[in-house]
Amino acid sequence: MDFSARLLSWYEQNSRSLPWRESNDPYQIWISEVILQQTRIEQGKSYFYRFMEAFPDVNILAAASEDHVMRLWQGLGYYSRARHLHQSARYIVDHHRGRFPQTSAAWLKLKGVGHYTAAAIASIAFNEAVPALDGNALRILARLFAVNESIDSAKGKSVLYELALMVLPEDRPGDFNQAMMDFGSVVCKPVSPQCKACIFQSDCEALRKNAVQDYPVRKTKKPVKTRFFNYFFLYRQEAGEEMAFFVKRRTGNDIWRHMYEFPLLETAIETTTHELADHQAVKQLLNNNNTFNSVHRIKHRLTHQLIVARFFPVRLSRDEQDRLIGTYRCVNREAFEGMAKPRLIERFCNQFIEQYSTVNDKQ
Ligand code: SF4
Repeated sequence: MDFSARLLSWYEQNSRSLPWRESNDPYQIWISEVILQQTRIEQGKSYFYRFMEAFPDVNILAAASEDHVMRLWQGLGYYSRARHLHQSARYIVDHHRGRFPQTSAAWLKLKGVGHYTAAAIASIAFNEAVPALDGNALRILARLFAVNESIDSAKGKSVLYELALMVLPEDRPGDFNQAMMDFGSVVCKPVSPQCKACIFQSDCEALRKNAVQDYPVRKTKKPVKTRFFNYFFLYRQEAGEEMAFFVKRRTGNDIWRHMYEFPLLETAIETTTHELADHQAVKQLLNNNNTFNSVHRIKHRLTHQLIVARFFPVRLSRDEQDRLIGTYRCVNREAFEGMAKPRLIERFCNQFIEQYSTVNDKQ
């Protein structure tokens, strides 16, 4: 079958109109590909516009502060993407005078750029004949050729890469790769593929075997890990004063690195409030003085983690506030608004923070 000719002809009629497809500018393609690594197109579009407005070229992105970049990324998740994007922008400016790499092998050397992203940018912006195998492309090929190797395995990836190379047209690799993305999103979808309307139905091995739902083959999924976060919302509120509270920047090799959150104690299980109050770290944080009796609970899902978060509001005296300055950063709502924070913290702020903004001596 002339796979690529049929696919490209389908693409000419059905390609999605997307803002980053309006030019072959490698900067725009790079930004869009990184945004779309773990994000749906509809959500990604608004972030793409925001990014382009704030950082219209690589020099401006490189000169921006990390906080500014993270702030614009807020809500997209997988924050290492934003950090790597920023670091790579600085690398391109500092070491290549702002000139972009022109091959997938050179793109692959940049932080946060994997095989798929490197191939997508090099094929779309520089016409390099290299297949960009995202989930859509892998699924289409696995079904068309009924590939029995797992698409998560090195062997499976290698088989699918060879198949992709066989069907990739040398003259239009960028269009071909984008056509695969669109075809996988619209026709050969993960669930309920449109086989009856598919241009490949007479050649598709999975369909011929009446086993479309069995492809692509996958290894068992990584289990979801549950974590228990106990946040202390330590705030100061007095009549005639603006509310202030304490935050800290996350460090270490964990989720949400470099983002701001409230003082946190993670526990292995969900403890009782009494057990928590007895914990050495909490006694130290609250200087044995404060009690906390109200709590807000939010469950927050990440791809491989479920965060069960409890927020304990504690109203501080002036002395207590002074004691914590230095260890934590004291901010008001407006200042915190402009700081990069995990979506979980934003959810707490949106739902609960208002009630602590006004003086209430019963709190
Ligand atoms: Fe995908 Fe169905 Fe088309 Fe096969 S026939 S390529 S499974 S949409």
